[in-house]
Amino acid sequence: MTKEEKFEAMKKIRDDVVGLKESPLCELRTKEGYLPVIGEGSHDADIMFVGEAPGKNEALTGRPFCGASGRVLDELLEHIKLDREKVYVANILKDRPPANRDPKPEEIEMYTPFLDRQIEIVKPRVIATLGRFSMNHIMKKFDLDFEIEPISKIHGKKFQVEAPYGTINVVPLFHPAVAVYDASRKDELKKDFEVLKELV
Ligand code: URA
Repeated sequence: MTKEEKFEAMKKIRDDVVGLKESPLCELRTKEGYLPVIGEGSHDADIMFVGEAPGKNEALTGRPFCGASGRVLDELLEHIKLDREKVYVANILKDRPPANRDPKPEEIEMYTPFLDRQIEIVKPRVIATLGRFSMNHIMKKFDLDFEIEPISKIHGKKFQVEAPYGTINVVPLFHPAVAVYDASRKDELKKDFEVLKELV
């Protein structure tokens, strides 16, 4: 895909999310004056981060991870000397769930085809999942169902899988929010991020 084709394909995803009238989260977005949060970063990124869902800051700006969790993510990227512009950051849900509640299974089902299309466009060599919802979706998508365990057990492990475009690694990571609530966890998160550095 050329640069222009990738741009157009991402724009089409945005248009499709904007028009997702069957989603109650789309209704909430319109009512609250929120923006959909599609993703941000390089369309040629080696690493794609997949978070859970936009929070309030994200829904107000249309940018993923731009609030408290985003500041932790920036610090973790800085720790491994990775520029945020060189990675791609997306979420499972593209619209904010009310009061930041967990995504519902039917919402995950409704929104993950957009994420799957983003993966096909960017073709990352590494998919780093942030949190258990993202871990579950990505591991199932790449036939790693039998490897799924609590995130506390498999965080920072790498799983080599075959994507339609080649061999890639899936790396489950804790959600950066854990360090927002408990700063003493940051070193553990930093150590996990070092795994990413080895892969690119
Ligand atoms: N948490 C997420 O999972 N995604 C965001 O974009 C922001 C916070």
